[in-house]
Formats: sequence, structure tokens, C-alpha cells
Amino acid sequence: MIGFNSPYFTGKETAYIKDAVNRAHISGNGYYTNKCHQFFQKKYGFQKCLLTTSCSDALEMAAILIDLQPENEVIVPSYTFVSSANAFIMNGAKIVFADSREDHPGINEDGIEELITNKTKAIVIVHYAGFACDMEKIMSIADKYNLFVIEDAAHAVDSFYDKKPLGAWGHLATFSFHETKNIMCGEGGMLVINDAQFLKRSEIIWEKGTNRAAFFRGEIDKYGWVDIGSSFLPSEIVAAFLYAQLEKIDEIQAKRIELWNFYFESLKPIAERGLLRIPAVPSYSTINGHLFYLVTNSGHQRDELIGHLKKKGIQAVFHYMSLHRSKFYTEKHDGRELPNSDRYSDCLLRLPLYYDLEQSDQETIIDEIKAYFNN
Ligand SMILES: *Cc1c(COP(=O)(O)O)cnc(C)c1O
Repeated sequence: MIGFNSPYFTGKETAYIKDAVNRAHISGNGYYTNKCHQFFQKKYGFQKCLLTTSCSDALEMAAILIDLQPENEVIVPSYTFVSSANAFIMNGAKIVFADSREDHPGINEDGIEELITNKTKAIVIVHYAGFACDMEKIMSIADKYNLFVIEDAAHAVDSFYDKKPLGAWGHLATFSFHETKNIMCGEGGMLVINDAQFLKRSEIIWEKGTNRAAFFRGEIDKYGWVDIGSSFLPSEIVAAFLYAQLEKIDEIQAKRIELWNFYFESLKPIAERGLLRIPAVPSYSTINGHLFYLVTNSGHQRDELIGHLKKKGIQAVFHYMSLHRSKFYTEKHDGRELPNSDRYSDCLLRLPLYYDLEQSDQETIIDEIKAYFNN
């Protein structure tokens, strides 16, 4: 059996958890939380980081921070995980779904401007598979119409647009450390604040609507309820686990990129015969080895290929289903067709990719894909 994912442990996780326990501060915002924040701020130049219990929670914080008014609209790609849209709906926005690009599943930057109305407040983008969206184009559209950009960078740790890290472009950005992501702690996430106007309030929302963080820095002499908020911060146990992963980030990324490149090079000949499509990485983007996908020529073929691999003990999986066609949203959608998003819903499949995957396993997978197409 070759499973789709298998979490990688660096070996230091339990030692750091034990250390957190010995420090006798295991609620949030302590020693390891601070080490994680410092790590990201230093390595990627993010202005301020706040660990959260998930990327979904970080997105909810972002939705609160942009201060949505009734009637406000938020542009979100349809081909994404539900949390990219849910967070904004929960905070009162109407979602206007955008289509994917023809050549990869990220948002079609050229289709954004026509979706903007005088009610639009923000654009959410997703760096699918860790491939950068066209950030210069998106930021200039946002500037022109005075909109916020929120990067859902759940796939995009340690990936770059030109030389600037993903997560450093938008006014706000969110990361996921869910077990299925490159760097993980079971369930976890992070909000990145790149716009100074959000610095103070983000910390308050993070700490249940109180100015507790400022109190503990000695900036005020008592703390109280000053805004809305929730319990968005993870415990020190989670942060200690995460820190053990962050210390090994370069090694983890190098291994995943090597696996990714092996798939890419090995499947090129089949792609050149027009039998399937391999990822088209934009020239301005790095790859970060988050996920490797194929796109078949039809939905039927995708399902057959998944079935064929399953019979051979290989777990390949499809990915998102267009959100504008979901049970929850289809009635609320404005009726526009989003054909690229639908095509990726029907024809995209992801191959096993995790740190401990052996090259011999990859060879088996590639041989079975070839066998499927040669029949
Ligand atoms: C994984 C993922 C999320 C949700 O992350 P959680 O940490 O599980 O909340 C959100 N958006 C995208 C694009 C994701 O891949």
C-alpha cells in the first residue's frame, strides 16, 4: 500500500513538549509561541505573526479585522477549501466567486477586475499547490480600488513570488499547519499581519477581545474587555511541537521538492503525448513541494485512473469541488459559469507526496500511470 499522506516527525517534538511542561506555562502565548513567531518574522520578513489553532481560525481573524459592513462583498476563488469562504460569510459578507486560470488552479487574475463593485471589500487569493498568484497584478488592482488582499497561504509555506515570500504580499495572510501540510502540528495555523493598521487590534481579537497581551508587556496596568474576539491562540504544547518542525524546515522542503521534481520529470513524456497535463508553474513562482497534481482530459478518465491506482494499492485523490456549486452555496451564487474551476473539480488528481516517500514507490506509481495510458 502507498498511502496519500503520512505525517513526518522530526524527532524533537516530544522533547520540546516535555520542555514546555517543565516550564510550567502551557496555555498560549509563551516561550514556544514566541519562538515560532520570531522564526517566521526573521526568516520571511513578515511584519507580525500570531499562531492560531488553525488556518480556518486565522481566516476568521482576517475577516473580523477588515471590519465587514452589511452588503460587503468579498471575492474568493471557487476552487479552494471551504474555510477561504466560510470565514467571510460568518462575518456577514456576500461571496463573489472567481474562476481559476486556464493553465493552473489559482485565481484568474485577469478576471478579478470585472467582479469588483462599490460593495467589494477584499480579495482572497489561494496560492494553490504553493504556486504564487500574480501578486504584482493583484496588489495593483487592490490599490486601484482600495481593497484588502488576504493571502490564503495554507499551501504556500516557504514559497516565493520573485524573491519575496508568499504571505508577505497581502495586507493579511494565513497559513495552515494541519497534518497534511508541509510543516505541521496536527491542527494549527498562523495569521500574518503586513499592514500596520491591524497590528494592535489583531492581538486583541487573538486574546478573546482583551488587551491582555499589552498588559503582560507592561504597557498598561490592568487589562479588560475592549473589543470582540475569541480564543484563537494555541497552547504551548502545540507551539512546542510546531517549533520542532520549523527547525527542520529547510530539510523538509528540500526533500519534498526533490520528490515533486521526480514526478514532474518522469511524467513529462506522457504529458507531451497529450494524454494528461502536468503542473504549469508560473515563471515568477518557486515550487515548494506541497502537492503534486495531474489533470486528465476528462472527469471519467480521472475517476478511472484513481480506480486503477487504487487496485494497485496506490492512493491518489481528487481535490476541491467548486464552491459555487456546493450544496450550501449553489442557491446563493449569481449564476455565472466558472468552467476552469469545474474542470479542476472533475479532472485533477493528486499523487502521494510526503517526506518519507521512497523513490522506488514513486517509480511504481509512475509505472502504473503509464500502464493505465498504454491500455
Ligand atoms: C488546509 C487549508 C485550509 C484550512 O486549514 P486548517 O488549518 O485545517 O483550518 C484553508 N485553506 C486552504 C487552501 C487549505 O488548503
